[in-house]
Amino acid sequence: MPALPEYKTRVLLENHGVPLAPASFHDVMPTVLPEPVVFLKAQIPGATSRAGKGLVRRASTPDEISYGLKELLAEKNCLGVLAAEAVNIIKEYYAACLLDFGDEENLPGGVLLFSPEGGTGIEGRTESLLKIHFSLLNPPSALDIGNELPDVPNVFALADFLQKMISTFIGYKLTVLETNPIAVLADGSHVAIDCRAEFEKSGVSKKNAHLFKVPVNAVDDSTPLEKMVETINAADPAGTGFFRASRQKAPEGTIAVATNLCGGGGKMLWEMATGGRKDIFTINESDTSGGLSAFKSYRILRAIMSQPEAQVLILTGSGMAFQNQYHLASAVWKALRESATPLPCLLRFGGTDQEKAMELMNTVAENLPVRVITFRPEIFPNAMVEHLSEIATDKRISQIFTPEQGELAFEVETPPARFIYHPEKNPNGKEPAFIKECPTGFLQWVDGRLIPNPDARCIGCLVCETISLLEGNGELTIELDLPEEVR
Ligand code: SF4
Repeated sequence: MPALPEYKTRVLLENHGVPLAPASFHDVMPTVLPEPVVFLKAQIPGATSRAGKGLVRRASTPDEISYGLKELLAEKNCLGVLAAEAVNIIKEYYAACLLDFGDEENLPGGVLLFSPEGGTGIEGRTESLLKIHFSLLNPPSALDIGNELPDVPNVFALADFLQKMISTFIGYKLTVLETNPIAVLADGSHVAIDCRAEFEKSGVSKKNAHLFKVPVNAVDDSTPLEKMVETINAADPAGTGFFRASRQKAPEGTIAVATNLCGGGGKMLWEMATGGRKDIFTINESDTSGGLSAFKSYRILRAIMSQPEAQVLILTGSGMAFQNQYHLASAVWKALRESATPLPCLLRFGGTDQEKAMELMNTVAENLPVRVITFRPEIFPNAMVEHLSEIATDKRISQIFTPEQGELAFEVETPPARFIYHPEKNPNGKEPAFIKECPTGFLQWVDGRLIPNPDARCIGCLVCETISLLEGNGELTIELDLPEEVR
């Protein structure tokens, strides 16, 4: 059975309300070190007896933390380091949930194992384990569990903890879920100090796939920006949002070009246009395709624009893109408005609504912080690149974007976004123009309020915000989360 490392198991427990000892996870050396005292725990898939192998260390000074993190991060197959705050433990318990195939007395289901003696050496005390069999369809309440536990202090608070463990076990269809130890703190509360989970791949639902995805080889050479793009993809998995930075610096005298290539056709045309040219250096590979939303295009664009050495952005697909080009142009416009380091752009739109896309960029071009040239699909990248030196500036522009305060009208989970309404920009309370432009009918205006239509869905196209800004008064803005480091 595949096993989840501790830092991933913690997420599952947290999602079901199981209290955990505070900890932070670091897959790269952090700029701000965790506060001492911490236990540094290397996250290595399949590693057992970590303490004995030096993969768990107590660090009580900033130097020890820095040194420990550096060493553990360099361990083979290390996915990262969990820095767990030291807590004052009064007592330790052990608990695990397992699948149970049943016997003459018990139907198949789950079994909760509990020992009032937690910590190391539990393997040698299996005889003393209390077993509580439970139904997966009708799991026990905290009260049921409390009535079966031995006489320990705060028994029903402990039962509540164990009930949440069972809920995690069932909720994620795990085969094993173990917390060892469960610490009893001075105030009588319980927290999980260490945990692990095993699962059956076929039991993982599509919705939860990102929680169970463990990098195969942690000793990868992913850059921090690549890892940030991974988090963007994890939050919004539909469609491709690929990004990889060049491992080489742009040679002196070349134009450092950031790329947003849309699909294999875009990549192929770009390679054919720039192959053999010594004056152009491509600083990243990218692919946004496969029916991604404009919300996600925006996020990937923001990551691409945050590369400090970039001078120009080129965006092109094959010329017959699947993604609606007006939606893509809305994402480009938003990224140029909101990025701290917008890039001059060469944009080639080709596909559905390409005319609307070009019209949008031409309409807003004058007020953009950087120069933008748009191209029709009949113009190929080999002609576009002739404009590179013309729009590449020596110095990156830098701007500050402060989102306007408004009222949170509602949030959308998939693709993720917050819809912010600004009532002061619509003093008459009339239905704003963007309502009718929503292609799915997701937005409704009811009694002077913006509400989502429960029978429709948001496809993350950004049309509403674009129309609000162009034809209205900016009554609606959309907030799209980004990893902190993407500016
Ligand atoms: S609410 Fe409608 S217009 Fe706005 S992003 Fe969603 S689908 Fe597009």
